[in-house]
Amino acid sequence: MNLEIPFDILLALGQYINESEIGLAVQGADDRFQFHNRAFAAMVGLETRSLVGLTFDEMLVSMRAHASGPCPDWPKVRQWLDGERAGGQTRMFRSFEVAAQDGRWVLVTQQYHEHGMLVTLCTDVTEKKQTELALRAARDELERLAMTDELTGVPNRRHFLAGMEREYERLNRYGHTACLALFDLDHFKKINDMYGHAAGDTVLKHFAGVLRRHIRGEDVIGRIGGEEFALLLPETTVQGAAKALERMRVELNALTLDDIAPGFAYTFSAGISEMTKNKMPYKEWMTSADVALYQAKTSGRNKVVSHEMVV
Ligand code: GH3
Ligand code: MG
Ligand code: MG
Repeated sequence: MNLEIPFDILLALGQYINESEIGLAVQGADDRFQFHNRAFAAMVGLETRSLVGLTFDEMLVSMRAHASGPCPDWPKVRQWLDGERAGGQTRMFRSFEVAAQDGRWVLVTQQYHEHGMLVTLCTDVTEKKQTELALRAARDELERLAMTDELTGVPNRRHFLAGMEREYERLNRYGHTACLALFDLDHFKKINDMYGHAAGDTVLKHFAGVLRRHIRGEDVIGRIGGEEFALLLPETTVQGAAKALERMRVELNALTLDDIAPGFAYTFSAGISEMTKNKMPYKEWMTSADVALYQAKTSGRNKVVSHEMVV
């Protein structure tokens, strides 16, 4: 169906296009602008100039010399268009969002018509984009909070266990070796009782820092209970893990937290369990580390014990 548009309607549409806040431009097959409205010129930062007769590249040159105000990153758009062109320009329609140099966002839609005529529409979508970005940032922050222990900033129990389960599956598939270490601060109740809950919190934060300092890139730490922490050491044998934990224990023994009380010190006990392909069920991995930790506690505390030493 080819509807005739009455002349007075065409005039009204022309006026609408000229006054619209949506930028509109028409280019011929030779790439030269044949028409554009005020909003389009404003969007490329060339309010006071006519672009008619210029090619897209000539417009870019003019923009570099005179542009002001909101200005989409057209050189990037050009690059993208060239890529499209090299790809054979098979699509008749495309739509994409571009960031303007002043932080605004423009939605560009382009439609090819007969004889290579290209109609470009530019809509300012800054508000929608800002809402979208704010929502995304809020979602990321929520996700981070859901995974993090508030007091110490290390991954929480749920997040740690999820990582441990993934590692368990990975090493069973590929035959790697990994170690799980469980830490429990010694006589922590006494610290709370003698120096107050806030001092206890300071110790927890301090210990999280000690753990962070000692881990390698692929290691994962977590706070899995009140004064209980866990460390997952992928690609590590029990000997390697024991050495690393012993180093940590000795370093902590040499430290004092004088802000809590002059000469104040604390210690931890730890249990390690090594896991290799098909060695034990997932649940037993945690239990065996716990057995080793219990052994460290009952044999005097301030110790690192591996499950292999217990059984
Ligand atoms: P052990 O050497 O046998 O581990 O003795 P413990 O006193 O450390 O063990 P216990 O499990 O009896 O005490 C743990 C204490 O940790 C009890 C609890 O009030 C305290 N606690 C748990 N979460 C927090 C916390 O977030 N902040 C503080 N300050 N204390 C906490
Ligand atoms: Mg405990
Ligand atoms: Mg304890």
